[in-house]
Amino acid sequence: MGDTKTRPDAPGVQGRHPLLKLAANRALLVALVYLLLGMLWILWSDRLVEALFRDPAHLSHAQTWKGWLYVGITAILLYAVLYRLLRSEAAQLLRQRQQRDDLDLLNQFRESIIDNANIWINVLDADARITVWNKAAEQISGYRREEVVGGDAVWAWLYPDEAYRGDIGRRVRTILDDGAEIEGFETRIRCKDGQVKTMAWNQRRFFSERGEIGSIAIGQDVTERKRLQDELERMAVHDALTGLLNRREFEVRASQRLAACAREGRPCCLLWVDIDDFKSVNDRFGHQVGDDVLRGVARVMHEAVGGRGITARCGGDELVVALPDLALDAACTVAEAIRQQVEAAALLAAHADGAVLTVSIGVADRTGDAGGLAALASAADQAMYRAKAAGRNRVCRVADAVDPGGRLGG
Ligand code: GH3
Ligand code: MG
Repeated sequence: MGDTKTRPDAPGVQGRHPLLKLAANRALLVALVYLLLGMLWILWSDRLVEALFRDPAHLSHAQTWKGWLYVGITAILLYAVLYRLLRSEAAQLLRQRQQRDDLDLLNQFRESIIDNANIWINVLDADARITVWNKAAEQISGYRREEVVGGDAVWAWLYPDEAYRGDIGRRVRTILDDGAEIEGFETRIRCKDGQVKTMAWNQRRFFSERGEIGSIAIGQDVTERKRLQDELERMAVHDALTGLLNRREFEVRASQRLAACAREGRPCCLLWVDIDDFKSVNDRFGHQVGDDVLRGVARVMHEAVGGRGITARCGGDELVVALPDLALDAACTVAEAIRQQVEAAALLAAHADGAVLTVSIGVADRTGDAGGLAALASAADQAMYRAKAAGRNRVCRVADAVDPGGRLGG
């Protein structure tokens, strides 16, 4: 592992272990006690025997028996001490063997859980090299264990963008160096087959039994969940048929822009667009064609407005455009462009020769600071109704006099 980093307070094996010191002290104590007792025996047993047996023949016998007694007592003591020591050593060996077996079993169990877990698990050493890469990591990424373990090349494969990889590398270093933890952190990885997946990570630092630093990362493939979440978020703000913003989202965004324009004294206009005789489109060509036409008008409007405004479907065949920073004349020019482009798009040409689809558009501008979006929309709606009343397929601005023969615009 090269310059393997270790925890500063990791238990070392330098010097003698306290248990070894204790054993040496106990052995020394036993030897000293034996020495003391031996000396006392030698000093006092001869005197005692000589005092008890005056007859030299008896004394000689007694000394022989005293020798036997000494040997017998020391043999019994030696047996007792050795038996105790060897028995506790054997018991300890058995315990250690049992513990090793248990540990092996636990390691096998742990490895099998890590390997077969259905979430991505990988372990890094202190230099961010892969040391463990489970089956789920292989399945999700497409990279096999043999390709990644022992090296750090996988980072460049998973995160080909250098800046993005740098960000992620710095985050991993804070985990390894400072003990930071991450929970639910999302990254986008590029798999071996080129697919891009979104992963949610939990990662933290750990110390091995020898005190070496590493980090364990648990990753969940949230690509599908993320896609559904994005889709739900998109559906919450967009109209399902046309893909334009829905009414609620339009109200939120347009109100904000309108309020900002009012605060800063800038103009703001609103276009109210309604398809002409749309009911008859449904009646003549069917609802499906009606839907296609609605989509077509939405597309034309979206392209005509571009980034200048906020386009939305308010419901039915009514569409709106908020145009911040545009004065009434400029807004009428945009409205006229929409009207002309819808007409030119010939959205009904494929269904009936000569059938032309048109729209009527009302345009209103912000009048002073009074009235919010509702007032502006109501004014644009009224202008649109006047465009209908004037014969349809025209743009009518607020307060325009209705000229049934002419077309009003910018
Ligand atoms: P006008 O020129 O006065 O606007 O006449 P119109 O026929 O367009 O009348 P109106 O605007 O009141 O009619 C709207 C029609 O739009 C009524 C409804 O059948 C149709 N419509 C509303 N929503 C949808 C939709 O999602 N798809 C389709 N195909 N038709 C819709
Ligand atoms: Mg209509």
